[in-house]
Amino acid sequence: MKSRHSVNSAISSAVMLLASACGLENNTLLLPLGIELDSAFAQNEQSLIKEDFEWLESFEMPSHEQGSTPFGAPLSRWFDDIFGGSQSQNVINFIDERSAYYIAPTRSVKRHIRLRQAGESYETASNVGTGLYLSSLAHRERVSFDFDGRSIEVNDTRVGLIKLARGFFRSESKFKDTYRVSRIGTLVHEARHSDCTGGVKRSTLKHLKSKIDILDNSCGHTHARCPRGHSYAGLMACDTSPWGSYAVEAVLLARIAQCEDCNEEVVQAALISVIDRRKRVLLSNQLFKGALGVPDMSHSKSVIEDIR
Ligand SMILES: [Zn+2]
Repeated sequence: MKSRHSVNSAISSAVMLLASACGLENNTLLLPLGIELDSAFAQNEQSLIKEDFEWLESFEMPSHEQGSTPFGAPLSRWFDDIFGGSQSQNVINFIDERSAYYIAPTRSVKRHIRLRQAGESYETASNVGTGLYLSSLAHRERVSFDFDGRSIEVNDTRVGLIKLARGFFRSESKFKDTYRVSRIGTLVHEARHSDCTGGVKRSTLKHLKSKIDILDNSCGHTHARCPRGHSYAGLMACDTSPWGSYAVEAVLLARIAQCEDCNEEVVQAALISVIDRRKRVLLSNQLFKGALGVPDMSHSKSVIEDIR
């Protein structure tokens, strides 16, 4: 870890300034990032988000591969491909590009599609914008979202509307770092749901409308049902599309687990999560060996007419 520089941190000072000036009346911009925080966040929740970004900002990614990793190719290669660089700042940029609004746990969000992380006993977060956008395409309706009294047009998976649920802020001081590592993984996971890789197929939209399971959906990287025999069997908690949210999260956590200067709790928390996330990537062996290609981090708004 680099030394913490919370006092001088741009994120810290900007949030504190705005928070003290506005109280909880107005939404807060998480500067220098472009992410807006809903005014309904409690002060301690705002602080936790800010501290997580500070922690990530000061985290020094290991400069070289250490020991064996559960990934076929050198882990740093996947990391650089996904995040567009080798530093923690690249991870922050990744989140920033794909997240625009964080919605507070107390807000009730009516969703047509649930993208929650199933398989867990509590909800941590969901990419509301992607679910609404795909649903709006499937039903050929225009959808807007009321964010703090402002109407946000949901016309792209990259709208970046992300709900942070109560489970996201679950914390115990005894396991502070464990929860922090998990929250950062979640922010990256939800950010990946903002990518519509290769466009959306008309057949996918038809399945969505008919509530049929989607087997292959790289647009929004929505989850697939885990197969029989899997520890999350029957739940929409697995990924079939290459380099989806769980794979991207696993790569980040595995890199954090390589940290030499971190305390044991950080390393262990990251390792445990890697094992879980990897299990949810159904083709993980082929994927991490590179047999399914390199990560495609592009984004498209195209609708592919694959139905005659
Ligand atoms: Zn997800």
